[in-house]
Amino acid sequence: MRVLLICPTPPADSWPRGVFLYSIVPTEAAQASALLRRHGHPVGLLDRQAELAATGFDWPAADARLCGTLRDFAPEQVVFFSPSAAAAETFRLAGLVRSVLGSGPSLLLAGPHATALPEESLAACPDLNGAVVGELEWTLLEVAQEGSAASIAGLLLRPTAGPAKLLPRPACADLDRLPPPAWDLCTMDYYTARSRWLIRWLPLRVLNLRTSRGCPNACRFCAAPLTAGAGVRFHSVDYILAMMEQALGEYAIDGLLFEDETFAADEDRLQRLCLAIRQRGWHRRLQWACCLRADQAQPELLREMRAAGCIQVEYGFETASDRLLQAIGKNTSVAQNLAAARRTRAAGLRVYANMMFGLPGETARDMADNLRFIRAIRPEVLSAAIMAPLPGTPLFEGLTEGQRKNLKWGDFAYLDQPRPGFNPTAVEEEQFLENYRRIRKYFVRPLVLRQLLRDAGNEDTALVSHWRKEWRRFCLRHPLRAWRLRF
Ligand code: SF4
Repeated sequence: MRVLLICPTPPADSWPRGVFLYSIVPTEAAQASALLRRHGHPVGLLDRQAELAATGFDWPAADARLCGTLRDFAPEQVVFFSPSAAAAETFRLAGLVRSVLGSGPSLLLAGPHATALPEESLAACPDLNGAVVGELEWTLLEVAQEGSAASIAGLLLRPTAGPAKLLPRPACADLDRLPPPAWDLCTMDYYTARSRWLIRWLPLRVLNLRTSRGCPNACRFCAAPLTAGAGVRFHSVDYILAMMEQALGEYAIDGLLFEDETFAADEDRLQRLCLAIRQRGWHRRLQWACCLRADQAQPELLREMRAAGCIQVEYGFETASDRLLQAIGKNTSVAQNLAAARRTRAAGLRVYANMMFGLPGETARDMADNLRFIRAIRPEVLSAAIMAPLPGTPLFEGLTEGQRKNLKWGDFAYLDQPRPGFNPTAVEEEQFLENYRRIRKYFVRPLVLRQLLRDAGNEDTALVSHWRKEWRRFCLRHPLRAWRLRF
């Protein structure tokens, strides 16, 4: 069966562009493509972000390219792999696919949004024939081999009569059975171009790699356990080394971003990987970054990671309130977070701090504590997000019907997140926004801002204009510092 996988982006009006764009290989879709191809099915993989970049973010031109691909490739099965932020755009593209190919091919939705809201998605988009719930690879393979059938576990087909039926598919226990991502189907020049966004603020050519799926924890706001299921599954060290060898052999990269939710979920595996990287001398060619939980930040492990080429560790600190950490099910404490930041820096690693604002019950004092926490740990990279109730998470399940109706999926795009349409904190809206604005100045420090604007050149997007204004404001307030940063 000829299968085309499409990875849509959020809609044009809610999405950052140009130099402020984060570009990573769509790993799950690329692994599903590799599995289908291994079993003899012709596969195409179309990432709309790369397509848009190739057309200079000319959306009609990117649509025209998609239509051309559909006519040339003539897929029998089209699969959209979509996060919630891209749901509205996915539904639009499904209509475009139908207008080109008619009712011939089957259209499926896969990924986090399909897993969280399969029935709602089918109701919202009549062009879809079904939804893949959970991990997509093995379900798609069965669909390619047998055709869409309600007996396939993990596949929810649009019912012709009565309620839709879904046979659950357990997560694949042995990840090494999956082939590595089909990088040759991706626009690798685009993904491995020099960028400051993957290992944030450093101008490196970075490739993202996934070595495990899932997380030992289950935070109330996090959608990671949704498609990956409970617990963690791992690729073996040998499998990871083979992927790294292939990446180093085929692409001009000097960095790796391990995209695992918790890279040290198996500490022994990570230590063996660090040792193997050093034995091969790759620590001299590659700088890498990963994400740990604060309770995994042990000094010896951090030192071994540093020796193996790690330069940055990302943590989900979220908040400087033990009460809120408990409420969101984080299972860490402020003291653990402070220690993790201190140990990471002591090991010679950069600290990437994820903070989250707008949590249910958050007070003005909690926000002030967050600010003190950020000043105390002085992270090299700060992400200060506003809580978004992602579908399928306990936070989303706790919303009222009215709150859910007000959600606009495009608002779940990363970077400049608008509010989720309601304020669950204990702070008045105006006060909340004022406090949040105070935090934002730590998000992009002046030196980084200067570098990003220099990279942006003549780019003229709303986001670039916004940051130009911020830079001008900084120059007026701190002319001497701004003058120094120019060189
Ligand atoms: S620890 Fe991180 S990855 Fe794990 S559930 Fe919490 S937020 Fe998600």
